[in-house]
Amino acid sequence: MIHEIIKKYLPKIIKEKSEIELGNRKEYIGASDIAQCSRKVVLSKLNPVEHDVETLIRLQRGHLTENLLKMIFDKTPYKYTTQMELTHPDLPYLKAHLDFVFYTKDMSKIGVLELKTVSSMPDEPHESWIQQLHFQLGLMILKYPDAEIKGSVLVININTGEMKEFNNYEPNNVIFNALLEKAKKIKMALDGQIEPKTEQGFLCSSCPYKTDCPALIKGEKVEFPDDMKQRVKKLKELVKIEKETKSLKNEIKLYMESIGIKTGIADDIIVQYQSRKGRKTLDEKALKEAYPEIDITPFYKEGDPYSFITLK
Ligand code: SF4
Repeated sequence: MIHEIIKKYLPKIIKEKSEIELGNRKEYIGASDIAQCSRKVVLSKLNPVEHDVETLIRLQRGHLTENLLKMIFDKTPYKYTTQMELTHPDLPYLKAHLDFVFYTKDMSKIGVLELKTVSSMPDEPHESWIQQLHFQLGLMILKYPDAEIKGSVLVININTGEMKEFNNYEPNNVIFNALLEKAKKIKMALDGQIEPKTEQGFLCSSCPYKTDCPALIKGEKVEFPDDMKQRVKKLKELVKIEKETKSLKNEIKLYMESIGIKTGIADDIIVQYQSRKGRKTLDEKALKEAYPEIDITPFYKEGDPYSFITLK
């Protein structure tokens, strides 16, 4: 019942709220668009897909966290605003909606904060986050050319509450101009003048336009895009650490076992030795010997299929 109510009202509420805050996203190219795969952006504006209710709820995590931060910033003496809209003075189809902007009364000092919510904290900010922030900073310096402008990305892990701020970004003409060129090409693709560029990466896995995407090469052996390569390298490091952890644990356990120690003290670290009874398992050989007339084959259950990866 409640599920049906949510399904009925949520899409409408989110659409209305988004139009109030961000306007019609089909009519402009935003900072977050510029930081994404151009083909995906163009198709999402020309042939938008309806998100299912689960995706809509997931996409609200950022807004909910934004409201929480707003309540906190309201208690501080800092001047700030949310969802500030900036438009390129010569290319009005280019806009940015900034999550948080802090400023002094005379606008001589401005701080731009982009908020990202994640379910696993990265060591480094994603390239797309930094591009989005640079586009915002570029538009801001066009509007306030004499201001001292700084930007940061605040990342919050909504599962653990862990926070990380990647800060001290400043407007950078070279990066901004490169992003402007990309934005102009997206506009040309939207107007049907050129084919949009494909930019392969991890997000291809959740892209609604992947089925007929020419960039996705299927096959036995395919070179990964850069952001996937980084993930593989990170995994390889972690696997190595896991192996070392296992070997150290074994050495400590063996030492405690052989001496008969239950608790070991290593300065401020306490090591507890614990043992548990083994899990009960069925001894098939003994069963067959005791009851040779019974065929136990029909009682075997096939597990669900699963997939896994290995690193070499
Ligand atoms: S599958 Fe990847 S490369 Fe293709 S449109 Fe989607 S995001 Fe872009």
